[in-house]
Amino acid sequence: MIRSTHAEIDLTALRHNFMQVRKRVGQSCQVMAVVKADAYGHGVAGVAPALAAAGVDQYAVAMVSEGVELRSLGIRQPIVILGGAFAGEELQVVSHDLHPVIFELEGARRLDHAGKQAGKVVEFHLKLDTGMGRLGFTAEHLDEALSTLGSLRNLRMIGVLSHLAVADEPQQTLTETQISLFHQLAAKVEAAGNRLHFRHIANSAAIYSRDLAGCNLVRPGIALYGGLTGETATDRVDQRSVMRLVSSVAQLKEVAAGSGISYGHRFIAQRPSRIAAVPVGYADGYNRLLSNCGEMLIGGRRARVAGTVCMDWTLVDVTDLPNVKVGDQVTLLGQDGEDAITAEEWADKVGSITYELFCNISKRVPRVYVGERRVVGAKSPG
Ligand SMILES: *Cc1c(COP(=O)(O)O)cnc(C)c1O
Repeated sequence: MIRSTHAEIDLTALRHNFMQVRKRVGQSCQVMAVVKADAYGHGVAGVAPALAAAGVDQYAVAMVSEGVELRSLGIRQPIVILGGAFAGEELQVVSHDLHPVIFELEGARRLDHAGKQAGKVVEFHLKLDTGMGRLGFTAEHLDEALSTLGSLRNLRMIGVLSHLAVADEPQQTLTETQISLFHQLAAKVEAAGNRLHFRHIANSAAIYSRDLAGCNLVRPGIALYGGLTGETATDRVDQRSVMRLVSSVAQLKEVAAGSGISYGHRFIAQRPSRIAAVPVGYADGYNRLLSNCGEMLIGGRRARVAGTVCMDWTLVDVTDLPNVKVGDQVTLLGQDGEDAITAEEWADKVGSITYELFCNISKRVPRVYVGERRVVGAKSPG
């Protein structure tokens, strides 16, 4: 028997989610798909070409190596490196025509130098800190940054961006404060002689809950994968789950009342029980906090995890599901029959967020693409 555990990635659902964003922001606003961290664990090799086919305008990733990977997949659209270029990565930025985000001046000087060496001008986006408190120039340091950047001849600013701290909390006024400060600072950047092509601040939650007048680019991540949660999601978003995580029953056994199950015997059968072994564990991203409380769907019905989640195996109590057989499909995430285990339900159970759950589905879990025709590795013409 081959190990059945895999993540099914529905490219039709992905396209649907992208089209919803497109519809929401309108034709005068570009959409930059955030595909960092292997497309939030969905597999960038399948996701990025599918988004290109759906008409995405630009891509964003966290790191230079992720940008290089996108180019190797044949992606020709602009690629923004949200985390900028670290020392030693400048040449790759230049040779793969990536657009780094600049948020400090030492890095800017290194990029300018690399551009000079190659006889090229490096196009970049300037990061402004309007309240996230993470990366970017604050209002206080903007003048100095602009004068230094203005003197670097092999750099050209094409956009400004900022990031929102509490966009997923609709009642928070900080988001409006950040947005208005952003436009104020962007105007200052333009007044200093920079011709900006792009102004962007919105992540998924903001796209669906805020007035984005003045912006002409948005950066959805989680909404593309159908994992937007909270009030914003329930009120306004028609999103479909892109990932299903499935496995199958590898072994069944009957145990007597009083039997201990799995490491530490943290589950003791209270009655004669039937226990199914499922070949998935924390090394696959099935969080150990799901020990004794996670649920899986078999034949559309719920079975509870019995005992500790192991590295490669998890046991479930199927005593109340008498028809379960070896080989039956087990759904850990997603729809099965009438019922579904949502990413939100799973994340809530382990005190996390949908983003982390998706990212934690590990490399050894194959991504199987369904839905749209798969065009992995296809180079665009020209
Ligand atoms: C990850 C990221 C996004 C996407 O955020 P979502 O909440 O997934 O839509 C947008 N902008 C920046 C700077 C990011 O790091």
